[in-house]
Amino acid sequence: MASALTEKLSRLVKQVRGQARITESNVQDMLREVRMALLEADVALPVVRDFIARVKDKALGQEVVGSLTPGQALVGIIHRELAATMGEGVADLNLAVQPPAVILMAGLQGAGKTTTTAKLAKWLIERRKKKVLTVSGDVYRPAAIEQLRTVTKQAGAEWFPSTPDQKPLDIARAALDYARKHYVDVLIVDTAGRLAIDEAMMQEIRALHAELKPVETLFVVDAMQGQDAVNTARAFKEALPLTGIVLTKLDGDSRGGAALSVRAVAGAPIKFAGVSEKIDGLELFDAERHAGRILG
Ligand code: GDP
Repeated sequence: MASALTEKLSRLVKQVRGQARITESNVQDMLREVRMALLEADVALPVVRDFIARVKDKALGQEVVGSLTPGQALVGIIHRELAATMGEGVADLNLAVQPPAVILMAGLQGAGKTTTTAKLAKWLIERRKKKVLTVSGDVYRPAAIEQLRTVTKQAGAEWFPSTPDQKPLDIARAALDYARKHYVDVLIVDTAGRLAIDEAMMQEIRALHAELKPVETLFVVDAMQGQDAVNTARAFKEALPLTGIVLTKLDGDSRGGAALSVRAVAGAPIKFAGVSEKIDGLELFDAERHAGRILG
């Protein structure tokens, strides 16, 4: 669905690029198309409205109408506003606390939490020279604990054992205690996800948040999810004070919609992008670059 956005915007951009003069009615026509393309790509309506209003303000000012290269000027405005909607620049992790800094991973099952936990561990070891410990609070799926163990090993980080008969809160306390005693810099806590949002899961992760007092609470969301990503983001934002978003599976077909509205709905910056299944497939999210990719 979001690839439709990419294609549509690309086509529009080409049309405008070919024109010598841009009039007010050109701008209106183009914005109508952009609006439809964004809605088709499942970008939330308030986000679309806000986006169009900002582009319109600028486009109808002197920046486009009367400019020597109006097509390029309009493309430039759309590009800048796309980037601004997704959060300008690069938003790094906040680790400025007394160690161990705790990172809590939140999101639905299948979003990529466990994979991202290990990717992040590797990233922190290599880029930030941190001593990293991971732990799984997913006591409902024994395979999830084992999966985290395997990928943590690949990441070269330490893994704290947990078992399905334990309570998530007890696991969290024990891991934090171990992290303190062993001079761990960063403890990453993977949590249970469900296929759909449910109250028990939200209560559990809220309790974990209260216990662990994480410096980062990262909402992990699959970029391929479309409008569902928005609903999931809203539910997690209501339950937890999110500090950042990890948009996974950006190597898939979907390239735009989710990034635009998830950032707005979750009220937190997109900090990382998952770009492959591999352990090193994690990058700091770059809104400028992503805007370029959407525009094609
Ligand atoms: P969890 O249930 O949230 O812990 O999700 P997992 O970490 O088990 O990931 C679910 C699936 O998505 C796995 O097959 C991962 O390999 C895959 N996955 C996670 N992140 C990415 C990504 O950035 N790109 C791609 N292509 N696949 C990913």
